[in-house]
Amino acid sequence: MSTNAAALKDQVALVTGASRGIGRAVALELASRGAHVGINYRTGEDAARSCLRAVEAAGGTGELCPFDVAEPDAPVTHIAAFAKEKGRLDILVNNAGITIDGLVLRYKEEDWQRTLEVNLGGAFRCSRAAARFMARRRYGRIVNLSSVVASMGNPGQAAYAATKAGLEGMTKALARELASRDVTVNAVAPGFIDTEMTASLPEEARAAYLAMIPLGRLGRSEEVATAVAYLCGPDASYVTGHVLAVNGGLYT
Ligand code: NAP
Repeated sequence: MSTNAAALKDQVALVTGASRGIGRAVALELASRGAHVGINYRTGEDAARSCLRAVEAAGGTGELCPFDVAEPDAPVTHIAAFAKEKGRLDILVNNAGITIDGLVLRYKEEDWQRTLEVNLGGAFRCSRAAARFMARRRYGRIVNLSSVVASMGNPGQAAYAATKAGLEGMTKALARELASRDVTVNAVAPGFIDTEMTASLPEEARAAYLAMIPLGRLGRSEEVATAVAYLCGPDASYVTGHVLAVNGGLYT
């Protein structure tokens, strides 16, 4: 938990894919710093409700905001409704992401399209919808969840790595585009974090990754969440277009 208890007091944040894993930890961290948090998810309603209960149990406030970030019209409709009802939108964390692993020679067209639409299309459309409100109020923080594989690469993850590398390019372009409105846009690139996304790794692959990580362990979602919260807060007011690696030294 943060020591910056009131750093985001009265602010409104939306975290995509916050039903579990890193997104849940980000929602909890932002709420612990005083933000009202919109908890987005697509299918995991029970998990999202559990996240909301955890936010409230820690003294914070939030609400559920279910929609599929990959549906072309959903982000604009839901983000506009959320921002209008709250009267503001200070923070957007584009965290929702999927990985459909497979070697390129056997990779299905539909899997390529879906990975692109969720990871990259979702972040683009949510950013566009949020930027409208942020630019008007001349304040905003957008943080995108990239991955170490954007720069390191990983066999079996060509589609996933392509979306994350694209997300980093988009982060830098939007940072330049929105800077005049005091909207900062940054990315956090985690290494291997202990979540459901990495739980399905075969034991051998997990051991091989561990051997490559100087800090000798997988990261925790909370360790990513504090990095995201830093970029969302007043301490990062002069940081934009940056990709912050949180990977235990795996790749620099
Ligand atoms: P996770 O445990 O699989 O959780 C993914 C979240 O995204 C869930 O809340 C899921 O909600 C949501 N989601 C998926 N598709 C969605 C859609 N179309 N619309 C809305 N929400 C959707 O993943 P994680 O490990 O926490 O990863 C979070 C982010 O960090 C991802 O962008 C991932 O690429 C990135 N990352 C993770 C790691 C890692 O080691 N875990 C490393 C580097 C980067 P529902 O299932 O309820 O729909």
